[in-house]
Amino acid sequence: MSLNTKKISDWGLGLDKPLIISGPCSAETEEQVISTAKEIAALGKVNVLRAGIWKPRTRPNAFEGIGPIGLEWLNAAKAETGMLTATEVANGSHVEACLKAGIDILWVGARTTVNPFSVQEVADALKGVDIPVLVKNPINPDLGLWIGGLERINQAGITRLGAIHRGFSTFEKTPFRNLPKWDMAIELKRKYPDLDIICDPSHIAGNRDLIPYVCQKALDLDMSGLMIESHITPSVAWSDAAQQVTPSALKDLLESLKFRSADASTPGVENKLDSLRKEIDNLDDDIFQKMSSRMKVADQIGEYKNDNSVTILQVGRWEEIVNKRIALGKAMGLGDEFLDAFLKLIHKESIRRQNVVMNSAGDLAGK
Ligand code: PEP
Ligand code: MN
Repeated sequence: MSLNTKKISDWGLGLDKPLIISGPCSAETEEQVISTAKEIAALGKVNVLRAGIWKPRTRPNAFEGIGPIGLEWLNAAKAETGMLTATEVANGSHVEACLKAGIDILWVGARTTVNPFSVQEVADALKGVDIPVLVKNPINPDLGLWIGGLERINQAGITRLGAIHRGFSTFEKTPFRNLPKWDMAIELKRKYPDLDIICDPSHIAGNRDLIPYVCQKALDLDMSGLMIESHITPSVAWSDAAQQVTPSALKDLLESLKFRSADASTPGVENKLDSLRKEIDNLDDDIFQKMSSRMKVADQIGEYKNDNSVTILQVGRWEEIVNKRIALGKAMGLGDEFLDAFLKLIHKESIRRQNVVMNSAGDLAGK
């Protein structure tokens, strides 16, 4: 089935690529929404103000959103700054409240896209309405489910439609809160070239430090925009405190990003060397990701050894690792000397970290 969608530039809202959406994870108070909005509007680069009004929280007893009063705060912020407004809808009554309040753009969250009943309820509430809708990927890496969500909204008559890549839940601990699957976003783009896909680096990263990397990666892959959570005082945010950035950090971030022209990043236009280098960069990213996961497991071993009074270094185990790994590495075409040095380095770092865990000496990042 094809999707009948309009590009962001044809939404009639004066928007274009790159679409920059920012604002708090959750609307908390009128003062927090308005002050955040004013400061990010002053940067002159943010087109749309976001704020969650109803928050799908993983565990109960967390802050579950301020409710419809927050829609009025979004409207007040719009009147003050001229920015368009966007919020998340997860059921029919959310849609009705947003339409009544005159919110400009809606998005379907990851925890909603995953459930066809919920998406259908949102789609039914949107029948006969003309409002732009962005559909986040489902929390599990299922492209069909993401497409299904887009189709349901599209079949309700919404043509001002876009997608948001916000990463995927994993049981395995990774450096990301939600693991990005760039290949899946690219595949979605390949299937629906007219569908704009933006990236939500905040929910992918889960922490402020990784956000610039995720943003640049998304832009380099020709994504159509970014949704970045910002908060006037992130450290005291009522949700997602670790990943929200201050308006001034947002300014630095947006100034540091390279917004490349579409032509230069279109496959085929770039030369062979560039594309091979990109491939190397991607593989290096994967290696770092795996190393980070590996070291987190080493930390857990450190905790176990500490609790059970076992020494850090266990020579027998180390020899076993080296022998097995060198044989495997050689079978994969890697050189002896490289394998030996590489394994020693990894081992040294594991020992250093276990020392930190067991003796509280220094910190894990080696600072
Ligand atoms: C959000 O945007 O604040 C949110 C809840 O995101 P997601 O649906 O990606 O978890
Ligand atoms: Mn959030």
